[in-house]
Amino acid sequence: MIKQKQKSTKQKFTRIKEQDKALYELLQDEQRRQSDSLELIPSENIVSKAVLEAMGSVLTNKYSEGYPGARYYGGNEVIDKVENLARDRLKKLFNVPYANVQPYSGSQANMAVYIATCEAGDTVLGQHLFDGGHLTHGWKASATAKFFNTIQYHVKEDGYIDLKEVEMLAKKHKPKLIWVGATAYVREFPFKELGEIADKTGAYLVADIAHIAGLIVAGVHKSPEKFVDIITSTTHKTLRGPRGGIMMVTKKGLKKDKDLSLKLDRAIMPGSQGGPHNHTTAAMAVAFAEASRPAFKKYGKQVVKNADALAKALIKGGAELVSDGTDNHLLLLKCGKGRGAIVETALDMVGLTTNKNTIPNEPQSPFYPSGVRMGTPSVTTRGMKVKEMQQIALWINRVMDIVKSEELPDGNVVEKQKYIKKLTKKLKKNIEIDKIRNAVERLCREYPAPDNLV
Ligand SMILES: *Cc1c(COP(=O)(O)O)cnc(C)c1O
Repeated sequence: MIKQKQKSTKQKFTRIKEQDKALYELLQDEQRRQSDSLELIPSENIVSKAVLEAMGSVLTNKYSEGYPGARYYGGNEVIDKVENLARDRLKKLFNVPYANVQPYSGSQANMAVYIATCEAGDTVLGQHLFDGGHLTHGWKASATAKFFNTIQYHVKEDGYIDLKEVEMLAKKHKPKLIWVGATAYVREFPFKELGEIADKTGAYLVADIAHIAGLIVAGVHKSPEKFVDIITSTTHKTLRGPRGGIMMVTKKGLKKDKDLSLKLDRAIMPGSQGGPHNHTTAAMAVAFAEASRPAFKKYGKQVVKNADALAKALIKGGAELVSDGTDNHLLLLKCGKGRGAIVETALDMVGLTTNKNTIPNEPQSPFYPSGVRMGTPSVTTRGMKVKEMQQIALWINRVMDIVKSEELPDGNVVEKQKYIKKLTKKLKKNIEIDKIRNAVERLCREYPAPDNLV
């Protein structure tokens, strides 16, 4: 798969260097940050050079509102072919009869699903934000809750989706739409069981596979294709493509509503977006081809193996995880009430990038939650395996121990921010933190971003 000790993949930014020093410095800084730290945020990855090339192509110059063969602008003969190439590759990857590659990102794809299937005020059922659900699945701070009557389901004590509650809520509220898919859920999704509930209650079932799309393509997680009507996803998480969103309709979906694909097309354009980002479409085509190759299957399997190894080693070192482990690429570390920001900050200082996150039954708030979310897509792309995961777990366990008596003050946001600043200063002087930071950098140098991903 990925060979180590490859030539550097650093971008040179020659023109920017000549004409824009300020931005050049920033790009260099970010490039350095990415190469010298370990990205453990589970929604991030490292794309191939081929994806970057497509993103930086002249296709960004073209307007092409509409769809292949039916555009509002001339000069789209080539763009039509590019979009069809991306769509056909995507349909093949997921074995579906319809695909739309125009959503600017995952949230826009989800918004288009609402526009296509609901009227304002309709009832929608989705997973609660604290339990891992996405903002766009009906959380009160999202526009989705402003325009629709959103009801939320939960996970049980053991971290699995509470199917009894879903069925009860679906029968009681008769939602138009049910969402399955999440942003911080560590188990396989019960697509089949939810498909039965949706069928019984007459709802459309949408699988939002933003996080696990790559795992499905690699064959390590089962596909929702047989059980749901619509599939949405991002392309930049485990699927390892450019930032973007996609929508698909399954055979089951077309059987339920033969106009569903047309409704989704219209929901994007003219419903909620303007011209597609053709350079991104091209990069998607590249990524979908990469994902169809044997090397990607190996990658997906290793992502899950690595997450399992990381989870087991963390638990062995005394950490507590939501659901006591993971089936996928991510895990949720319990940090103690409201302490997620403390652990995130301390891990950041040693070059391990994670994000604070709510946990089921969150006792605090999404701004100061009680967990930290981490995952293995990016470090696996760098070629790391189980042994490196065990080393990373030792570092995380040690860092958690160093900050174990730190507590955020009860006061307002300003006071909490002040405390985090002070903590950063204090940790900067900590010799052990410094030692771990150096060890992380050494590991990073051993595993640079790969030059070639296929
Ligand atoms: C990341 C994510 C999205 C949103 O994607 P954006 O590209 O950030 O808009 C939607 N749903 C789920 C489940 C996600 O994890």
